[in-house]
Amino acid sequence: MLTAPLVDGYGRIHRDLRISVTDRCNFRCTYCMPVEGMTWLPRSEVLTFEEIERVARVCVERFGVDSIRLTGGEPTVRAHLPALVAKLATLRVADGEGGVRPIDLALTTNGATLRTVAPALVDAGLRRVNVSLDTLQRDRFVELTRRDRLADVLDGIDAALEAGLAPVKVNAVVMRGVNDDEVVDMAAFGRERGVTMRFIEWMPLDADSQWSDRTVVGQDEIVAAIAAVFPLDPIVRGSEPAERFAYRDGRGEVGVIPSVTRPFCSTCDRIRLTADGQLRACLFAVEETDLRELLRSGASDDELAAAVARCVAGKWAGHMIGQVTFVRPRRSMSQIGG
Ligand code: SAM
Repeated sequence: MLTAPLVDGYGRIHRDLRISVTDRCNFRCTYCMPVEGMTWLPRSEVLTFEEIERVARVCVERFGVDSIRLTGGEPTVRAHLPALVAKLATLRVADGEGGVRPIDLALTTNGATLRTVAPALVDAGLRRVNVSLDTLQRDRFVELTRRDRLADVLDGIDAALEAGLAPVKVNAVVMRGVNDDEVVDMAAFGRERGVTMRFIEWMPLDADSQWSDRTVVGQDEIVAAIAAVFPLDPIVRGSEPAERFAYRDGRGEVGVIPSVTRPFCSTCDRIRLTADGQLRACLFAVEETDLRELLRSGASDDELAAAVARCVAGKWAGHMIGQVTFVRPRRSMSQIGG
């Protein structure tokens, strides 16, 4: 029962819902979490699978949301994740011609347990996966993630490919003086393994407040480094945030997500549901809409839909990183859901 698309005050239509299924993680990436002292949400505050499915269903059926990404924290540490995937994989969105089509369902993971979980996720209806990997060097991986699991992640990427997940995208956050010397090696890795590398500009969402604009490696620098070794041609940009480039020799493509140097706020179509049921219209939003309270107090689907629409209607124009008016959100990336 499509009522209307989710439009904000700037005319942006929202079709992409990012759902964090947990704030917990089995890594402690330096740019995301402190080494210790994280306070996890009590389990009673985390949405159940039934609650998540209900919000997702309202967004898909009422507003034509057609893309759902499961994230965290680390989504694979949530018990029985395939059961949630199975519920969400049944959602159908109106195709505009009187019929319906499946939604695009994907998972963002650090990949460390994919060898074990990928087959069950595929059986449950998952089609594609994004794996986060910021370095190919073991010592550096240990330093960055505070875990010695590079081999597991590399094996997890192979497992995802073997299980038939396609495409497998590998996301790397590039940080000056940390891993910026590995951009070409990682591009080569993507070409060899048949996975699409996406380089992400580091954003001010770390728990330790280490971010500064001097530590951001911008898109131009990343693309120039890769193109000097593997010539590239730009691909015309669609609605997705990544700027994409094709390898001139035909061996796939590479992308950059330039959230800091070329923010894509004007075409942003994303909303986010945190693990504790707070809806955010922007990654950097300082206000949240409490859907859990509605879900647990007997609200109808109409009331839920109205709350979602109100949240999106109040979305601001852009995140303002780098400007004096920028305010860091209270929560870090792992607590919001990246
Ligand atoms: N644990 C999962 C994973 O590793 O993909 C999902 C959650 S993680 C928070 C999602 C993505 O956010 C990862 O690709 C991670 O590298 C990215 N991320 C975390 N902090 C970031 C920051 N400050 N700037 C840019 N990306 C960040």
